[in-house]
Amino acid sequence: MVSLGEPAWRAKQLAEAVYVQRVTDLSEITTLPKALRGKLANEGWQIGRPAIAQVFQSVDGTERYLVTCGAGQASVQTVETVWMPEGDEGESGDGTDSATSQAKTSCAPDLDSESGDSTGPGRQRATICVSSQVGCAVNCQFCLTAKLGLQRNLTPGEIAGQVIAVLDRHKVEVGRDRVNLVFMGMGEPFLNYDSFMAAVRLLVVEAGLSPQRMTVSTSGIVPGIERFAQEPKELRPKLAISLNAPNDEIRQQLMPINHKWNIESVVDAVQQVKLRPRERITFEYVLLGGITDQPQHAREVARLVRRTGLPAKVNLIAWNPGPGIPYSMPQPGAVEAFRQTLVDAGIPAYLRRPRGRDIYAACGQLKRTVEG
Ligand code: SAH
Ligand code: SF4
Repeated sequence: MVSLGEPAWRAKQLAEAVYVQRVTDLSEITTLPKALRGKLANEGWQIGRPAIAQVFQSVDGTERYLVTCGAGQASVQTVETVWMPEGDEGESGDGTDSATSQAKTSCAPDLDSESGDSTGPGRQRATICVSSQVGCAVNCQFCLTAKLGLQRNLTPGEIAGQVIAVLDRHKVEVGRDRVNLVFMGMGEPFLNYDSFMAAVRLLVVEAGLSPQRMTVSTSGIVPGIERFAQEPKELRPKLAISLNAPNDEIRQQLMPINHKWNIESVVDAVQQVKLRPRERITFEYVLLGGITDQPQHAREVARLVRRTGLPAKVNLIAWNPGPGIPYSMPQPGAVEAFRQTLVDAGIPAYLRRPRGRDIYAACGQLKRTVEG
C-alpha cells in the first residue's frame, strides 16, 4: 500500500477483508475506495486463497478436502485439509479447555452450556487439521505422506488460507464458535518453520484465532523446537511431539530422523518451552500391531514420559493402514490396555478417535487414493 502511495493502514483494511470478512475478490473490498480497488486491479494485484477443489464427506461428519494451492502458477498442487466436528479428543487434557473454561478438565461437552463456556446450543465445535507442505521429506515408515516425498513448502498464505477457506465453508464465527486448529496434516511444519509461524501470525493477529487453541505436531526437528521455544506466548501454539516408539532402537527403525535427533535431544529441546498454566506437552504415539503396541512398550513409555518431568499427556492413535505400507493395525484390546497402563502410571492418556475411515482419513491417504 505504501509503495502505491497509500497510507499503511490501508494494508490493515486489506488483511481484515481477507482474513475476517473472507472476501475472495478485490472488487468486494468495500472498505477500500472504489478508485483504489480499480488502481490495484489495473496494476495487476489480486487477492485470493486456496480453493477447496474436492470434498469428501464421512458418515461421522468429518469432511476432508483436497485444497488447491498456487492456482495460476505452473505448480498447481493439492494438499489435504480436514474438518472434524466435535474434534477427535486429541485436544483433551492439554489445557485447551482452560482457554475459555478454567473449571473443566476434559471431555465434558454436555456441560458446556451450563458452565457458561463459549460453546452453546447452535454453536459449532470442531477441529481443523492443516497441512504445512506438499508431501514430506521425513520418511517415517508408517506414513503415507512420506511416499510423496517433499514436493514443496507451502507459503504462509497457503497455510493460513486453508483455514480461512474451511471457516468460510462452515460459516464459522470466530469468537463465538469453538474451533481448534491442529497443524498435523501433510508435511513437517518445523521444516517449513518461517512460513508456518508466519501463518500462525496471520491466523492470530488478522483472523483473531487463539494460539491456545492451536497445536503443532513435529516429528522432532530439534532446531525447530528450539526456535519455537523462543516464540512469544501470544503467538505460540501448543506443542505435540510424535514419539511413536518407546525407545531409540524402535524409533529409529520407524522414523529415520531419530538417527539425527534422538529421543533425549528432542526432550531436551522441549524442556526449553515455557508452558502456560495448565498447558501440557502432547506426546503422540501411533500404535503399530506387534511393533509398538505391546504391554512392555506401554510400561516403557510411562517411564520415559515420567523421566522427562514435563507436564505431559499421551495421545494414542491406532495406526491407519495404507496401500503398500507393511504394518498392521493394533488389536482393539491392545489399544485400551496400553492406555490403561499409562493412566495407572499417572500419565493422562487419550485415544484419538478414528475419524472418517470411510473417506481415507489417515494422513496423506486421500491425496494418494484420489490422485493415485
Ligand atoms: N509431520 C508432523 C505432523 C503431521 S503427521 C509429525 O509427524 O508430527 C501427524 C501425526 O500423524 C503424527 O503423530 C504421525 O505420527 C501420525 N501418523 C502418520 N501416519 C499415520 C497413520 N498412517 N496412522 C496413524 N497416524 C499416523
Ligand atoms: Fe512427515 Fe509427519 Fe508423515 Fe513423518 S509422520 S513422514 S514427519 S508427515
